[in-house]
Amino acid sequence: MEGGPSDLETAIASRPAVLILLGPPGAGKGTQARMLEDRFGLVQLSTGDLLRAAVSAGTPAGLAAKAVMEAGALVSDEIVLAILADRMAEPDVAQGIILDGFPRTAGQAEALDGLLGQTGQSVTAAISLEVDDGAMVERVSGRFTCAGCGEGYHDHFKQPAAAGACDKCGGAEFKRRPDDNAETVGARLAAYHAQTAPLIAYYEGRGVLERIDAMGAIDEIAGALGRIVDRVSA
Ligand SMILES: [Zn+2]
Repeated sequence: MEGGPSDLETAIASRPAVLILLGPPGAGKGTQARMLEDRFGLVQLSTGDLLRAAVSAGTPAGLAAKAVMEAGALVSDEIVLAILADRMAEPDVAQGIILDGFPRTAGQAEALDGLLGQTGQSVTAAISLEVDDGAMVERVSGRFTCAGCGEGYHDHFKQPAAAGACDKCGGAEFKRRPDDNAETVGARLAAYHAQTAPLIAYYEGRGVLERIDAMGAIDEIAGALGRIVDRVSA
């Protein structure tokens, strides 16, 4: 992939990619989004960043968002879409974008399609990072660290060599983050699935849904993601 522009890069340049990355907390979405930025020149746009930038730039949509937020209300889909439309007209996103945090509902997804359709665009792919809930709960909820040196351990995957003593510093005190427990992690996953299911169904219906097994190593996930972007952008 080194050297001159690949077919993919040429294709993306002529037709900006619009990717939607979906994944529960702990699936490595942030890491993978940064990989896509580096490798494909895409720009990740999160709703929060978009709003902040538009407010500070004082665009008409940004001012509207500011007024709504100052009144303590939620910014409407119309305003978010207007801000997104402004942002997509800027030159740095010519290669394409990765949307993060929007759309959150099927209604918003439909509105996004409407917006993209105005310029002959559409969502290139909605990529779902899929996790095994049980394995995810086990992975996250078993974590603990040495209170002395911060070395990380895991109930199932990495116990200290000598029980109760840190491998690195010999310390005997360990700590766990209060939200790294099975109940909290399970609840977070359930909330994610409940919120995302309609969105996944929507994009499946549009024929642009891609699923990736997100339980593997970061590099494997990145490879699978890259192959999808290669294929859908060709
Ligand atoms: Zn230690």
